[in-house]
Amino acid sequence: MAETVQAAKTLDKADRLKQLPPYLFVEIDRAKRRLQAEGKDVIDLGVGDPDLPTPPHILAELKRAVDEPANHRYSFTEGISALREAIARWYARRFGVSLDPQTEVLPLLGSKEGLAHLPLALVNPGDVVLVPDPCYPPYRSGAILAGAEIVSLPLVEDNRFFPDLGAISQKAARRAKLLFLNYPNNPTAAIATTEQFQEAINFAKEYGWIVAHDAAYSEIAFDGYRPMSFLQLPEAKAIGVEFHSLSKTYNMTGWRIGWACGNAQVIAALAQVKTNLDSGIFQPIQWAGIAALDGDQGALQQHVTTYVQRRDLLVDGLATSGWRLPKPTASFYVWARVPTQEPSMAFAARLLECAQVVVTPGVGFGPSGEGYVRFSLTAPTERIQEAVDRIVSSMIQ
Ligand SMILES: *Cc1c(COP(=O)(O)O)cnc(C)c1O
Repeated sequence: MAETVQAAKTLDKADRLKQLPPYLFVEIDRAKRRLQAEGKDVIDLGVGDPDLPTPPHILAELKRAVDEPANHRYSFTEGISALREAIARWYARRFGVSLDPQTEVLPLLGSKEGLAHLPLALVNPGDVVLVPDPCYPPYRSGAILAGAEIVSLPLVEDNRFFPDLGAISQKAARRAKLLFLNYPNNPTAAIATTEQFQEAINFAKEYGWIVAHDAAYSEIAFDGYRPMSFLQLPEAKAIGVEFHSLSKTYNMTGWRIGWACGNAQVIAALAQVKTNLDSGIFQPIQWAGIAALDGDQGALQQHVTTYVQRRDLLVDGLATSGWRLPKPTASFYVWARVPTQEPSMAFAARLLECAQVVVTPGVGFGPSGEGYVRFSLTAPTERIQEAVDRIVSSMIQ
């Protein structure tokens, strides 16, 4: 009996969990909660979670579909065919790329789920996964959980936040199985060119890598810029897949719906993992997803306009204090160099204490994120104005 209690107290969790990177935002989270408990008005520009609502025609379709008993049962892991067809139609309209809805499209319970599970489908313990640094954390965690060895690819300003693939050692390049890319990029807001994508394809062909391109922000772009799909390059489908999400495009983060598309063998391998882990997306959400993809895109245009206003408010506002931030052409993030000599964590903590504004320290996305903080434009416009006023008056001078 005593032994059981002892064992529970000192639970020896699996080694793979111990290998996951530590959660670096504990202190900021704690400080934020403390200030809120003290009654302080904290403005959170940390999380990338749209404050704007899901458009009404998508909600209406969810409500309609919820009332149909046929939608209350298990779905299929691979989604209803109407959703896969809607995805293929959207892809053809948006990018001029044709996808076979049966074999080249796989709906996901949010793209995070698919990105994190992909290494389980492709890599053996000890294989190398090439992960950008800084990056969206699930690329790294998914690879670690699959037992892969991570080789980090620093994203630096001088290379427009694209990895220097030529700098990867021959040995690592040969052992690598999978390369993650993400443009428009979170957290740096960088965009990629055709030439950069082509370079990735050339390396992938030479070394036998699979390329997983995360295009979660493909529709959040400004000033006339239209992000391309990785699959628009003629050879891409032979070596790669692309991940999309309805989360950022239609303000549907809580709904959990996205998809992977591209190389049929990779899609089948990911589907095999998923058949063993989940039973598909709640069907009313799939019908709502179809309504989002096929329906009027006017709300998206309005939301993009809102992000532009917020971006300009933040960047132009902080410039008055001498803090120069780049204006992103895509994503809803502003990746700002820390204006002092402080590490990003200390600077973010000070910004929280002095201005009650939460930003994400760059180092939380990987060591090469040190020296930067990320602002998210997903708070109401007047709150962003208030954050700017507070930062300008309290911090910089
Ligand atoms: C938000 C985000 C996603 C989308 O995640 P979902 O699981 O689809 O909500 C994917 N990739 C990046 C880089 C993101 O920032």
